[in-house]
Amino acid sequence: TKWVLTFGGGKAEGSAAMRDLLGGKGANLAEMAAIGLPVPPGFTITTEVCTHFYANGRSYPAELEQQVAKGLEHIEAITGRKFGDAENPLLVSVRSGSRASMPGMMDTILNLGLNDRTVEAIAAGADNRRFAYDSYRRFIQMYGDVVLGVDHYVFEEILEALKEEKGVTEDTELDAEDLVALVASYKAKVEEELGEPFPQDPKAQLWGAIGAVFSSWMNARAITYRKLNHIPEDWGTAVNVQAMVFGNMGETSATGVAFTRDPSTGANRLYGEFLVNAQGEDVVAGIRTPQPITEAAREEGKVDAPSLEARMPEVFAEFRETARKLEAHYRDMQDLEFTVENGKLWMLQARSGKRATKAAIKIAVDFVKEGVITKEEAVARIEPASLDQLLHPTIDPKAERKIIATGLPASPGAAQGEIVFSSEAAEEVAGRLDEDKKRKAVILVRAETSPEDISGMHVSAGILTTRGGMTSHAAVVARGMGKPCVSGAGSLRIDEKAGTLTVGGKVFRAGDVITIDGSTGQVIDGAVAMIEPELSGDFATLIGWADEIRRMKIRANAETPDDARAALNFGAEGIGLARTEHMFFDEARIVAVREMILADDEAGRRKALAKLLPFQKADFRDLFEIMKGLPVTIRLLDPPLHEFLPHSDEDIAEVAAAMGADSEKLRGRAQELAEFNPMLGFRGCRLAIAFPEIAEMQARAIFEAAVEAERTTGEAVTCEVMVPLVVGRPDFDFVKARIDAMAKAVEEETGAKIKYQVGTMIELPRAALRAGDIAETAEFFSFGTNDLTQTGLGVSRDDAAPFLGHYVQKKLLPFDPFVTIDREGVGELVEIAAERGRAVRPKIKLGICGEHGGDPASIEFCEAVGLDYVSCSPFRVPIARLAAAQATL
Ligand code: ADP
Ligand code: MG
Ligand code: MG
Repeated sequence: TKWVLTFGGGKAEGSAAMRDLLGGKGANLAEMAAIGLPVPPGFTITTEVCTHFYANGRSYPAELEQQVAKGLEHIEAITGRKFGDAENPLLVSVRSGSRASMPGMMDTILNLGLNDRTVEAIAAGADNRRFAYDSYRRFIQMYGDVVLGVDHYVFEEILEALKEEKGVTEDTELDAEDLVALVASYKAKVEEELGEPFPQDPKAQLWGAIGAVFSSWMNARAITYRKLNHIPEDWGTAVNVQAMVFGNMGETSATGVAFTRDPSTGANRLYGEFLVNAQGEDVVAGIRTPQPITEAAREEGKVDAPSLEARMPEVFAEFRETARKLEAHYRDMQDLEFTVENGKLWMLQARSGKRATKAAIKIAVDFVKEGVITKEEAVARIEPASLDQLLHPTIDPKAERKIIATGLPASPGAAQGEIVFSSEAAEEVAGRLDEDKKRKAVILVRAETSPEDISGMHVSAGILTTRGGMTSHAAVVARGMGKPCVSGAGSLRIDEKAGTLTVGGKVFRAGDVITIDGSTGQVIDGAVAMIEPELSGDFATLIGWADEIRRMKIRANAETPDDARAALNFGAEGIGLARTEHMFFDEARIVAVREMILADDEAGRRKALAKLLPFQKADFRDLFEIMKGLPVTIRLLDPPLHEFLPHSDEDIAEVAAAMGADSEKLRGRAQELAEFNPMLGFRGCRLAIAFPEIAEMQARAIFEAAVEAERTTGEAVTCEVMVPLVVGRPDFDFVKARIDAMAKAVEEETGAKIKYQVGTMIELPRAALRAGDIAETAEFFSFGTNDLTQTGLGVSRDDAAPFLGHYVQKKLLPFDPFVTIDREGVGELVEIAAERGRAVRPKIKLGICGEHGGDPASIEFCEAVGLDYVSCSPFRVPIARLAAAQATL
């Protein structure tokens, strides 16, 4: 087996297509080398070795040692240096890289191959002792931390002490002799901690580093990151061993990172940061403040330090050209890492760049306009769920902002919430509910974040850091998560111990509310008015393309006028589910609803229903008027009576007074109606079967509203009356007969002709199986997949929390079936019902109105079954429009 593939010298054994085998980093290093870009030579140990490693008690395949030796020879041949040589030593980096990019999850070791002898050769060769020892001290620290398990702060303490002693603030101010002394202290410290000296044999160093990379695949941070991002464990990581190039050789050397387009806005211009005389992670680690790549960015950011463009014009020109080439080659925005060694540019990494959703859309739309990709590709490139962040509020531009600090606009969108100073606190506080039973919003406030903070960032509404640039950990991860982030707000002082955030004399504590605006970088005292999002610009263009591509219609679940208008705004093509009971909880109506429920007889019920009729009619007329002829599906009363029962003495007394009944008697009646298992109890069409007058009142309200709305709008109303929770055709027919009769009655009374359909929810397994029979009389089916999941799996959604998570964790179910439809089980019920329904009524209209209607993976399933439409919450309509288009590609 070939376990090792080489690259460099204008050639490569691998390519970008071999990502699974080489990991993203290795595959792109190979690709860049093959297309002739300046890449230091190296080799990649494949992900299959990682798999072998874990399958065989952490051991390597027998041929690996031999192949690694060959790989080293390849590098030696191209560089003319020899690994471990006392005259002209080769130094390498050992870099991890899995299939999916896992930023900062695993550790890279630089300058490997240095020891007490080779460091002198490097110093002599470069005629630069300072540089050689700077590299050595970095190596000991990285290797000590990652491979030997000596915490990095142990080294940082020694470094800080030395800087203090020397009276300097920057690492670069330490001279060669300082660094020689530092290396001696580091080595002594390692020996003290481990009881043995720092390894001097380069081969042993190399194998130690390779082992550490493979082991890091199973470290806690990596495991958490994979879990959050659904990255399978068996993918494994590759290891890249690559000749070192040095950005720390002096004033004509540098290291940097850049995006080929602005990752926040998508603007078509190079966007990045670099540091002179620096190495590796210095730029993102926030040790020194990095400088902008372009002059334009320098001017815009009012930065004093010169840009790369001004400081190294030739390198800049070559880099710009390289960036352009790579973007054209990969047909996507790239995230690049580079190093300049004595005025020569070296490319160290290219990958498709993480970007804010807004930027992703602009870039995709621009690429179509530039002729680089097709509309279909543009549509396919945007993660539907990511649109969520554009569909959330931003700060009202008219609102007054008490700005307390301004940092970098690291990830767009606004968020407000309580200050928390640690990830643990974030998880703790965000787990609580506020008065409206919503999760508490928190803003995670930190000096900077690290991979340990991922779970805390995940639960936070927004992230604020006082250090770090646009490419800092916080910024990159927040953009990936679609969370607002302000980074590098340097005027804020955090005292973690005291739990305070201080700015200009004002002290904030944990629990105080702040607002951050990730689009401007502003940090604002207190909560500020927000405005609702809208669909415009590139966003509208992209969704418009999705509309050209998709087959299914998108409707919304809405019953209030506000929701209906929001739905229309977001492009809904009708209402797929108007839940009439949502209108019943209103204070003005609940007494009448309770009267209806608790009435002794039909006469009593009719009296209460008569009070409800005008309310319902007005509700429906609003909906019809707003939707102007688009289809509106109204579901008859569905929830368990149980939910409406009065409980407090006060409530009972109020209903009793309205009915002129006795409180005690009423309490007895309420107790009779109490249920053990309401979701399987007296609800849905069972109500209409026991008390047909309820369905009749609702049908009357619907039809009278339709007639009136037609008169006010001049537009024909398309009205669909939906019967919930049927088990077969007989119960459906029973209710349908009442509805049809009422339509006739209203037509006679008004002289209008009413266009309507009667259909049903398919939300019980029996109904799915009886769908053929039901379709004889039902004109449409709407799959109520929430209930179909509850009843199909026998899992009460409200009680599922304590156990369903275990199913997912233990991989007994692939997803939470209430979030993504269970294709194998519930999905098959849907397919059976669709097939049997169509066999009887080929044109039967099929839709879905469960929460799954807004879930992209479930939408894909709906397309596969050939449903006519999905219906989802108004704010998910754009997501569904995009997902429905992708489902056809
Ligand atoms: P990550 O996956 O965390 O980005 P990398 O493997 O890309 O880690 O390494 C981090 C940084 O180390 C790179 O951005 C680059 O600056 C530096 N680096 C890695 N390999 C080399 C090398 N061969 N020569 C010079 N610098 C390197
Ligand atoms: Mg990197
Ligand atoms: Mg239901």
